[in-house]
Amino acid sequence: MNAATGTKKHVFAFTEGDGKDKKLLGGKGANLCEMTQIGLNVPPGFVISPAACLEYLDLPSRELPASLMDEVRAHMRGLETRTSKRFGDAGNPLLVSVRSGSALSMPGMMDTILNLGLNATTLEGVIAQTGDRRFGYDAYRRFIQLFGKVAQGVPDERFDRQLDAVKQRGGITEDVALSADDLREISERFLQVVEETTGRPFPEDPFAQLKLAIKAVFNSWMGKRAVDYRRQFNITTDMANGTAVNVQTMVFGNRGEDSATGVAFTRNPGTGENQLFGEYLVNAQGEDVVAGIRTPKPIDRMTAEMPQMAKELAELRAKLETHYREVQDFEFTIECGQLFCLQTRNGKMNATAMVRTSVEMERAGLIDKKEALLRIQPEALEQMLFPRLDPGVPAEPVAQGLSASPGAASGIAVFDADRAEHLGEELGRKVILVREETKPEDIHGFFAAQGILTSRGGKTSHAAVVARSMGKPCVAGAEGIGVDVERREAQVGEASFREGDIITIDGSTGKVYLGEIPTVEPNFTQELDQLLQWADEVARLRVWANADLPDDARRAVKYGAVGIGLARTERMFNAVDRLPIVIEMILAETPEERQAALDRLLPLQRADFKELFQVMAPNPVTIRLLDPPIHEFLPDEHQLERDLEALRNLDETMRGVTVLAGAIGLIQAPDKHRVEIDGVRRTVDPALVEAAIVKKETMLHKVRALYETNPMLGHRGVRLGITFPEIYRMQIRAILEAAADCAKLGIEIQPRIKVPQVGTQEELLRVKDYVDEIHAEIRQHDGRPVDFRFGTMIEVVRACMEAGPLAEVAEFFSFGTNDLTQAAFSFSREDAENKFLPLYSRAGILRDNPFEVLDIKGVGKLMELAVKWGKEVRPQMHVGICGEHGGHPDSIGFCQRIGLDYVSCSAPRVPVARLAAAHAALLAEDAVSEAAARNV
Ligand code: PEP
Ligand code: MG
Repeated sequence: MNAATGTKKHVFAFTEGDGKDKKLLGGKGANLCEMTQIGLNVPPGFVISPAACLEYLDLPSRELPASLMDEVRAHMRGLETRTSKRFGDAGNPLLVSVRSGSALSMPGMMDTILNLGLNATTLEGVIAQTGDRRFGYDAYRRFIQLFGKVAQGVPDERFDRQLDAVKQRGGITEDVALSADDLREISERFLQVVEETTGRPFPEDPFAQLKLAIKAVFNSWMGKRAVDYRRQFNITTDMANGTAVNVQTMVFGNRGEDSATGVAFTRNPGTGENQLFGEYLVNAQGEDVVAGIRTPKPIDRMTAEMPQMAKELAELRAKLETHYREVQDFEFTIECGQLFCLQTRNGKMNATAMVRTSVEMERAGLIDKKEALLRIQPEALEQMLFPRLDPGVPAEPVAQGLSASPGAASGIAVFDADRAEHLGEELGRKVILVREETKPEDIHGFFAAQGILTSRGGKTSHAAVVARSMGKPCVAGAEGIGVDVERREAQVGEASFREGDIITIDGSTGKVYLGEIPTVEPNFTQELDQLLQWADEVARLRVWANADLPDDARRAVKYGAVGIGLARTERMFNAVDRLPIVIEMILAETPEERQAALDRLLPLQRADFKELFQVMAPNPVTIRLLDPPIHEFLPDEHQLERDLEALRNLDETMRGVTVLAGAIGLIQAPDKHRVEIDGVRRTVDPALVEAAIVKKETMLHKVRALYETNPMLGHRGVRLGITFPEIYRMQIRAILEAAADCAKLGIEIQPRIKVPQVGTQEELLRVKDYVDEIHAEIRQHDGRPVDFRFGTMIEVVRACMEAGPLAEVAEFFSFGTNDLTQAAFSFSREDAENKFLPLYSRAGILRDNPFEVLDIKGVGKLMELAVKWGKEVRPQMHVGICGEHGGHPDSIGFCQRIGLDYVSCSAPRVPVARLAAAHAALLAEDAVSEAAARNV
């Protein structure tokens, strides 16, 4: 607070701002303060707090509060003193950059203006000081364009047209070839463009420029790009609210051969390798690197080209990592042999790099295991399971670019972001966004694309940075490709591809292919293994997998699952060799016929279960008895009707052929066509056609008889087991016999039988009776009992309410939160996600899709009650979850809080869930210590 005026202090010099307070100063501003205060060579400047941005956006006048400009002026005076330059001075002018920076990094989403303070007068000063007219005019034309675009809304194309006109006239292709006179002419043309577009001359007064620039940065917080980005990444106002404005003395990387600019990561953000990674351009400005206008050089070249600078850069890197204890993504400028650090932030890396750096930084003593685990978002691990191109499939790349973001993807080539959004998001096509270079306004195209391909720019270009943060494959700077956006096509040597043609990119190798190339699953890295071992050491929840077939179970074991929480037996029924028998069982008219089919299924199911037990031994395998309505195994009614029509037509035709055979003899020599006609009759045996018709009619009849208006709430789960006890009995026998077989082989296993859709104790008791009876038989036959557990799914609301009585019978509970969510909301799990849920989410009625993220307030409450009531009856009750939510990190935290023992999810989610379980345990530990600290 300013004591004299009573207004809140909004502006902080880099030397005074609290480098830890990102809410007060924005991420970039806080870092600039921190970097300054730890002694890095940062060009002096100050930060305007995001609080001022919010105040400004609230003002209907859209004018900056007067007190804010007073503070800014005072700080500009401070800068003048520190740099011995003067803002607007003709002799020794101070130029500044004006940049955005909210509490959370949103790369490229908001606006930046460079070289502010230039006008006709100060330009002369810059030229006199540097003795370099070209440099002066170059800075001037850049400033006019950027300022015109950002602060005055002049479209880029209007400037580009003028630039191109001057270039064309001189036959110039590269900006670097423009002479000082060319650049002066361009500057004049640009000033005219601004005046024509805005109706006012370009502002000459440096303070007027500064005021407009601050407003523009504030406004960009509510710009479409920034708003879309926040929505996509769920950035709420408590995470970042408003943007700061960082005003900083300009330093120039384009002042000759001893000047340069670059961006670097302290470690490789694509692989995690412990080596400085980045790019630089000699005699260039920072924007040239980020925008991909010139293709920069890899940083290791600097050792030969600028050895002293390379040494200083290595020192800077070490300082940054030791101080921040995190990989840094930093920008630097070398002005006439002096190295400046312009900004640093935590490096956005892909999952592979996050994992490797976590493990290596822990080993180097930079961070501890807890930090190593907590710095990685569990969802990010899914990236590590990204597909690679199948190495067994020979493929010839047509172009080579930079490996900017790993992973491989195929899709149709699309040449602009809007088309990518339309084809990808709205029409559900797989698309690869192909651009010369990308800009922040292409962000919606990134969201919709499988991968990104650019023909220009480096590994730190916009396309590369954004794709990496999204974990999408990206090949950047594939210079052999000529992209023609207008004509929606690209030329690659002799070949070409157009919009709609399928291409494949491999972001791990930088190669580009025409057509689709199959992909294979990736392998775990050693570092991931290590990290997940650390996760398992601290986690309280165990992670099991939903796996139905032995191959799924093998994958689950590979991913570290320590049990199967759900084996859906219906998947086994659907196998090609089983389905005909299952259909026979369903069509059976009598219990005997049904039994005959079940007798054939029994050995097959027994073998299935035995293999599952063996793959998971000695860990638990929970087999769920048949759940879906049995009509799901029969063909669809309309398909059957169509088949029948075709068969009946065939039948008619065959009768016609017989008539034809007889009739033809009346008019021609009897043997003439006999051979052909007999051939037809032999090919299609009328008896077979008739049998097929009867079979299809029986099926159609059965399908109609089994028809239910609402099958998900119909004849399924335990209801099926009670009306067709022989089906459940067969499955129970198969499980117990498979378990007995394993025991005889000395294999240690933990079989579990689980009943779906249970809502009453009586239902569970009935199935328990079958189990007891069959177990008694096997026990008598083998002379020893089978060790197994019997339990229930908790997936109907009544089961939650009846958890106490159910716990008298069940030894374990397994929450089926897919059905429980359906039941709790009365939302059909089949339809809701395509019908009204997207609108519910857009309108803010529901924050998340409840079929994806557990609804803690409703479904969670039911679960909590069920756990409590169940454990009151059976304190040792083992409880888990096997709905889709079992693999969702936020839901996992909740499962731990209500006392679950395990979560079960699909195999590829297992690594995510293992890390999420560790996070849940570590964060709970923190909460306990915070509570204890508060009580002290
Ligand atoms: C559930 O309902 O959550 C569940 C796991 O069962 P299914 O998805 O097979 O109905
Ligand atoms: Mg279910």
